[in-house]
Amino acid sequence: MDHYRVKPGDKIDLSEWNPDDHSHYSGSKEDAESEIQSACVQLGLLQQLLAAERKHKVLVILQAMDTGGKDGVVRRVFSETNPQGVRVVSFKVPTAPEADHDYLWRVHQQTPGKGELIVFNRSHYEDVLVVRVHNLVPKNIWSKRYDHINAFEKTLADEGTLILKFYLHISKAEQRQRLLDRLEDPAKNWKFAAGDLKERELWNDYMAAYEDLLNKTSTTYAPWYLIPANHKWYRDFLISKIICSELASLDMKYPQIVEDLSTYRAQLEKESGA
Ligand code: AMP
Ligand code: MG
Repeated sequence: MDHYRVKPGDKIDLSEWNPDDHSHYSGSKEDAESEIQSACVQLGLLQQLLAAERKHKVLVILQAMDTGGKDGVVRRVFSETNPQGVRVVSFKVPTAPEADHDYLWRVHQQTPGKGELIVFNRSHYEDVLVVRVHNLVPKNIWSKRYDHINAFEKTLADEGTLILKFYLHISKAEQRQRLLDRLEDPAKNWKFAAGDLKERELWNDYMAAYEDLLNKTSTTYAPWYLIPANHKWYRDFLISKIICSELASLDMKYPQIVEDLSTYRAQLEKESGA
């Protein structure tokens, strides 16, 4: 898993990262599917512990090009978690009140509280991606945001938030296929947006923006994982395993009940014998 974590000081060149890669799993796709299922169940148990202990906060950030698989990860990886303790937040084009504030304002309101696991489907990173590629603000404004973001995430981390960031790396050819699927399949038509084709034309600009973001904002306290994502099974395999292993390393414990429970037990036992 460490292979896919971007370390501070790395110089990522995305053209060197093969989106078809599945080299760190030697079994078959079927074997991987059953491992993913086990990891999802384990994640469900870890999330229950997270909610019960109410000590840590967990933030998972998903970023990708259109069709990159963010929705697929949400559906699959969190399928065994309890919706009471998990929330997915999708960041769209800012609303008028959001646009009236600084770009972190809407984001900070959605960060996890104690015991919560929050998944960001897109995030504040849009403010150095789409915003940069389309010159929605001038360079002297967006170029300062990498430092803001590192400081913001440091604050969250220092205050008890585990932050895990995943960039789902697909190829342009794979995106073409997935867009065609959305046009072919009536059940997928709704996911197609005409604007996706315009963004696709800016593919190289987006890759440059992603490279900068990976190189400037992968920190020890909020690392990026560069996930090869042409194969959905490999993507889900890596992400489910990484999240489980990071949550397990929090060494969470169920709260200790200090009271003597035997009197309550005796009371209930007496009732059943009545
Ligand atoms: P989707 O995730 O497919 O529903 O699309 C959401 C759209 O909102 C994408 O095109 C994003 O680029 C766009 N978006 C998200 N955040 C921002 C932002 N801060 N500024 C401009 N556009 C954004
Ligand atoms: Mg879309």
